[in-house]
Amino acid sequence: MTATETPHPAFFFDRDGVVNVSPGAGYVLRPEDFHLSPGIAGALAWCKKAGFKLILVTSQQGVGKGLMSQETLDAIHARMQAMLAEQGTAFDGIYACTHLSGTCTCRKPGPEMIFRARDDHGLDLGRSWLVGDHDRDIQMAKNAGVPHTIRILSHHEPRVAADHTLASVAELEDLLQRLFPRS
Ligand SMILES: [Mg+2]
Ligand SMILES: [Zn+2]
Repeated sequence: MTATETPHPAFFFDRDGVVNVSPGAGYVLRPEDFHLSPGIAGALAWCKKAGFKLILVTSQQGVGKGLMSQETLDAIHARMQAMLAEQGTAFDGIYACTHLSGTCTCRKPGPEMIFRARDDHGLDLGRSWLVGDHDRDIQMAKNAGVPHTIRILSHHEPRVAADHTLASVAELEDLLQRLFPRS
């Protein structure tokens, strides 16, 4: 980013349980097992149209555990981008912590993935949002200075408060339209 460019606000998205249907306790290990959540493409397209950069921040420890290769994770994300592109949108940046717990500095709820995205894309974190389904997502936003958070309810009991809570991703675009009414 050059000094003349205005920083963009971003919408940060957790992946499993938000962008795609949750694989439960395990991992999505094959591209064919990656299924977009109903309504996510519309919500992403809405965010992009409203001027936000779209950034994926995901924990994929299955790589560190040897359950899938980095190449497979890349293929899963290529499929995700292709599926979104069919609906006219895509992520601007993808950040994944693939490391075993305790072996890196980027694991959620640490803010490092968000800071890397900020530096790569020239983001204004103070006007940014995060959508997640787990306490560690919401806490990562707080740790990074991202002030606005939306939680998608999951089987995880919420302990870290988010600004907005939705029963499912299908409700997200409606919430965005209420939060940012177009003049
Ligand atoms: Mg999740
Ligand atoms: Zn990491």
